[in-house]
Amino acid sequence: MDTIPKSKGTWITRFAIRFFTIILAVLIFWILGFFVKDIKSIRGPNYYNIERKHIDQGLVNKKILLENQIDNLSRQIQTQQERQRLIGDSSQNLQQTINQLLELQKLGFQKNIVFSKREQANFTNSLNLFLENQKKYQKLYQTISNLLQKKYNLEDKRKHIKQQIEKQRGPARVEYDTLSEKHRLKLAFFQLALLIPLLTLSSILIIKKRLSIYFPFFLAFGGAALLKVTLVIHEYFPSRYFKYILIIMLLIFVARLLFNFIRSIAFPKIQWLIKQYREAYERFLCPVCEYPIRTGPRRFLFWTRRTVNKIIVPENADKAEELYTCPSCGTMLFEECSSCHKVRHALLPHCLYCGNKKTIVE
Ligand SMILES: [Zn+2]
Ligand SMILES: [Zn+2]
Repeated sequence: MDTIPKSKGTWITRFAIRFFTIILAVLIFWILGFFVKDIKSIRGPNYYNIERKHIDQGLVNKKILLENQIDNLSRQIQTQQERQRLIGDSSQNLQQTINQLLELQKLGFQKNIVFSKREQANFTNSLNLFLENQKKYQKLYQTISNLLQKKYNLEDKRKHIKQQIEKQRGPARVEYDTLSEKHRLKLAFFQLALLIPLLTLSSILIIKKRLSIYFPFFLAFGGAALLKVTLVIHEYFPSRYFKYILIIMLLIFVARLLFNFIRSIAFPKIQWLIKQYREAYERFLCPVCEYPIRTGPRRFLFWTRRTVNKIIVPENADKAEELYTCPSCGTMLFEECSSCHKVRHALLPHCLYCGNKKTIVE
């Protein structure tokens, strides 16, 4: 039988119990976290696959083709512009040469020196080259402007296709959002399906075993489970749902607390204690330490809480009742009644012979 230990222990033991209770709660919280994380790793819908269902692949291919063409044109334009720049440089050089030659000619005229044939030929050559360059430059200019026009046209087309794809992407996004939401709810359901039974179990243990010496175990378990459930609910449900769930949980908790307070006034703790003592006497076990009460016909037997109903008690043994103290913990279990002087239960309120009532203290 689990009962409140008579000694509360030194402060260091009490401190240690509290400390380890907290550590235990943290560890349980941690392990619950691992389970939840594993559930979370279940894969959701794939946006790429959904998009492929909704968007015309022909359009996508067209867009890719257009993009390639535009890239190609851009490169061509760049090459032509480079060439134009080179020709421009060369024209500038030629112009300088021609200017110098003209200057020389002017000087020659003033001093009556005529250009030699070779010099004349040089001048004509340079001039021709210059004019040819100018033509080339103009031609390149034309080519570039044509290419640019082409590029703009293609870009227009691409814009149009992009708009079409974007339009088709709308339903894909809607479907993806719906599937994602479903997946999220499924994950929340799995997590709560794991956590809620644990929370329920721990709550039952906390309520049923509140007098047990192992109460801190259940408290740690319950605390960790409650915190994890709260966090999961908070993560998966929007705050407006969460608000309601939280308030309902709080209501239940406070109502339960109030209920317990009222009960504790109506049926004080001692009632619980007596109930536990009674159950222990029924099993012939010491209510304090669970050591078998080996008196009368049961003197030479041994049993535990589990085996108490299986042992065979000898019939013709000495049935005389006598005073009895638990040899294990020293608690007086059968004592002399102060009224009728027969042997009565020491930890139960009434004498079984005369009904005399005694007060049981904690
Ligand atoms: Zn005992
Ligand atoms: Zn009596």
